[in-house]
Amino acid sequence: AVRIEKLNKSFGSNHVLKDIDLDIAPGETFSIIGPSGTGKSILLRHIIRLETPDSGQIYFNDQPVFDNGRPLPQTFRSSMVFQSSALFNSLTVAENVGLWLREHRICPEARIRELITEKLAIVGLEGTEGLNTSELSGGMRKRVAIARSLAMEPDLVLYDEPTAELDPVTTDELAETIRSLRKKTGNTTIIVTHDLNFALYLSDRIAMMHRGEIIEIGVPDQIRNSANPIVQRFIRTTTK
Ligand code: ATP
Ligand code: MG
Repeated sequence: AVRIEKLNKSFGSNHVLKDIDLDIAPGETFSIIGPSGTGKSILLRHIIRLETPDSGQIYFNDQPVFDNGRPLPQTFRSSMVFQSSALFNSLTVAENVGLWLREHRICPEARIRELITEKLAIVGLEGTEGLNTSELSGGMRKRVAIARSLAMEPDLVLYDEPTAELDPVTTDELAETIRSLRKKTGNTTIIVTHDLNFALYLSDRIAMMHRGEIIEIGVPDQIRNSANPIVQRFIRTTTK
């Protein structure tokens, strides 16, 4: 569903993305791993059109996303789960999940209520509609943020560092939640993380980025057994 071709981006003399090529299949759970500052978030921001490339192209279902470095009218809906969850503490769980739908008048109120209940159930939060967001644990907040992104009925779901700020137990729960979503929603999912174990557990395929380039790509076992010394070092330092 998502194809990236020879994508390049520089900030001044800092060449952040170097000829990035990627092909992500419909329904695939795809993770991008790599050390800090290698361009993972910038790559995600191109996919959701918050950045424009210097050269190269992104296609969604064979439709180009940019024209001469400018974003074209959107032919697909993507939603991003941000690292901080970015919930509104003054609103209830249901109000947070329904916020975007109400603001954009996407569908009638009755349907919005249905969507809220449905998406909360998908992430295992049924019956929490009326709770104050400020009273929730970090893991629950993350799941509310996921329910909110699913309520947009996106073609593409993106996560930037979903496990940052979470303890190991909550991280495991989140991995389970995202894994179960693949079966329930069939969404194409792209996850940026430096948590290798998390990526290994729930991804169909993983790409490793290093200094703006994709240096390895494959199913979890191929990454685990990569002969590339940079990948090996990343695995050694992150899975102790
Ligand atoms: P982390 O794991 O720490 O989140 P990352 O792989 O997501 O790192 P990016 O945020 O994609 O890294 O940043 C890649 C490079 O692009 C960095 O060198 C960063 O300084 C640079 N960069 C990002 N955004 C901008 C910007 N708006 N202007 C200038 N440089 C930027
Ligand atoms: Mg980042």
